[in-house]
Amino acid sequence: MEIHPKITPIYQTSVFKFEDLDGIAQYFDEPGSRYMYSRNGNPNSDELAEAVNRLEGGQGAIATGSGMAAILAAILAYCEAGDHVLCAADIYGGSAALLNQELNRLGISVSYVPFEKLYDLKLHLQPRTRLLLAETMSNPLLRVVDLRTLAEECHQHNVKLVIDNTFATPLLTRPIAYGADITLHSVTKYLAGHSDVTAGVVVAAEPETAARLRQIGMTLGLTLSPMESWLAVRGLKTLRLRVREHSANALAIAEMLDRHPVVQAVNYPGLPSHAEHQLAIAQGGTQFGGMLSFRLPDDEKQVNQFMRRTQRFPFAPSLAGVDSSLSHPLSTSHRALTLEQQQRLGITVGLVRLSVGIELKEELLIDLEQALGQA
Ligand SMILES: *Cc1c(COP(=O)(O)O)cnc(C)c1O
Repeated sequence: MEIHPKITPIYQTSVFKFEDLDGIAQYFDEPGSRYMYSRNGNPNSDELAEAVNRLEGGQGAIATGSGMAAILAAILAYCEAGDHVLCAADIYGGSAALLNQELNRLGISVSYVPFEKLYDLKLHLQPRTRLLLAETMSNPLLRVVDLRTLAEECHQHNVKLVIDNTFATPLLTRPIAYGADITLHSVTKYLAGHSDVTAGVVVAAEPETAARLRQIGMTLGLTLSPMESWLAVRGLKTLRLRVREHSANALAIAEMLDRHPVVQAVNYPGLPSHAEHQLAIAQGGTQFGGMLSFRLPDDEKQVNQFMRRTQRFPFAPSLAGVDSSLSHPLSTSHRALTLEQQQRLGITVGLVRLSVGIELKEELLIDLEQALGQA
């Protein structure tokens, strides 16, 4: 009986069989012709990597066990002991922890560049600066980076540009098209999209970089399991539909919050009042994603009251699932920053971040209005 599944089955196997010595010779002589060991390659993780590679317009990709593993692989693709990394000051807390706590003690040093200084790196460069890490849209203030200008500035100084594209997704922005050397994702977020998978992916603009990433993934064991890959591939099939709904809902909510008397400020690239609104349009088109943050008065009681009253935005410190959630940067993602860093970024008690899901827009609006109205 021949079996022709429409969907790639889950190859839940750690190893593959060879009929004889010719079989193993073929594995080594013709790369990509067959599989040997799932840490080195598996049909499900390859399907995920290839799908994201296509969306991002890359020249090769690897799937990783988490977004953090993706960031590690990207940095190691370019850096060794003695090298120096530049990092946007507005960066995911885990990325800063990786650089400060782990890579630093392995001899890879880091300097943080304030958002306003990103396009003039001269003062921050060192003789062995190899790369700059930044996010297309920053967390939690949703600042938008001008990728083309940043890529030009980096390349002028022989520095590689690594972009964490998790918040934007390739449906809004494809960093490689603007000159990024690597773009990467926490697949845990929009790409898988259902808050049920932890995964990552790294996409390279050059085939040689992709080969290096594959080597790093294998040797360090950063690769993703078949089941998680399969779930992520399934999620990815609806990315286009989800991003459309996330974006439409988030825009409606941002506009409502913007008018609300209790709300002091709203950070959403889709609002004309956002500092990089025009850039967001130029780089992202007419959709702006599902992430936003807003400012309540800096009063813990008032923030707690809002959190307790909302029914549709549970406090869950992650993002980008089909179900809405909220987070509180000061007490979660940005907890480890110094008080001075927190103040400089405007991360105070009153700042609330929403991950807007794909539920019925009217229900989300009604829920937020009742939660705020009595705040
Ligand atoms: C969540 C996240 C990460 C880390 O990804 P994990 O899958 O949790 O390891 C990295 N960058 C950004 C922007 C994220 O939101």
